[in-house]
Amino acid sequence: MYEGARIDDVLTHHWPQCPMHPRTHPLNAELSAAGPMWRCAQSDVDVVKIGELGATERGSS
Ligand SMILES: [Zn+2]
Repeated sequence: MYEGARIDDVLTHHWPQCPMHPRTHPLNAELSAAGPMWRCAQSDVDVVKIGELGATERGSS
């Protein structure tokens, strides 16, 4: 009965997960001078370009 809510919570509140602060907070999408970036609001730094996140997990091709 609550499964849908739990899945939705995980997907919307903890994705993408901040690599510097695992299970702490998600990354924020921001438009920087270099283009769209995922940003860690806690450290106030750009982490990775949007679109490149997760690309390394798929292997090189
Ligand atoms: Zn962070």
